Amino acid sequence: MRNNKLVIFFGPPGSGKGTQASLLADNKKLLHLEASKILEEKFRKSVSGEKIKIDDKDYDFDEQKRRWKEGYLVEDGFVAFAIKEKIKSMQMTEEDILLDGYPRTIEQITPVMDFFLSLYDVSNILVIALQVEEEESIKRNENRRVCTLMRHPIINSPETKDLSICPIDGSPLQKRELDKREVIKTRLQEFKEQTLPVLDYLSKQGVFISYVDGKGTVADVFYRVLKAAEKFEL
Ligand SMILES: [Zn+2]
Repeated sequence: MRNNKLVIFFGPPGSGKGTQASLLADNKKLLHLEASKILEEKFRKSVSGEKIKIDDKDYDFDEQKRRWKEGYLVEDGFVAFAIKEKIKSMQMTEEDILLDGYPRTIEQITPVMDFFLSLYDVSNILVIALQVEEEESIKRNENRRVCTLMRHPIINSPETKDLSICPIDGSPLQKRELDKREVIKTRLQEFKEQTLPVLDYLSKQGVFISYVDGKGTVADVFYRVLKAAEKFEL
């Protein structure tokens, strides 16, 4: 058993989860594995009509891509496959990991939990759960943009509202299909029904869950995230 740590980040769409996870990964030198980016990359590279067989089940890329675009969860077997493939390709060895956006359902957590418990002592697993009110989530999502080159998220604030290009790489900004109001509502509903039970499950397994208030500026929230991480000796 290694003495490395695993941090799993949870938060509803619009909680700033991605931003906070990136900041924490940078600050604490964690290997940041982001489920949505892994899937996005997988879909971007897929060819129309492409199929894949995983554990005797056929998955159609177009179908998975459609679910994802409309705000529904991509099927478990498919996500697990994409994540495992990514983990293998990174040949993880001795680094602490920050997992962001996965596992999202009880069906996903069971096999992954066994996998992680074979690598990490339960006391070396920390869950950080950001908490944000539903209306606030919707508002933040609706106004958010990403850059076309690197998908850098640009949150809506008085400082960024007139920006038309990414301050990091200069590429144009765009809204994502995923951030449309109807899609956000579906995503929030799915989060409540499917993802919140994962926290209960983890807690019953003895994993420490640190609930962090997601209100305020990115910096406000990040101070709280850092405090939670440092209590965990990251
Ligand atoms: Zn950018």
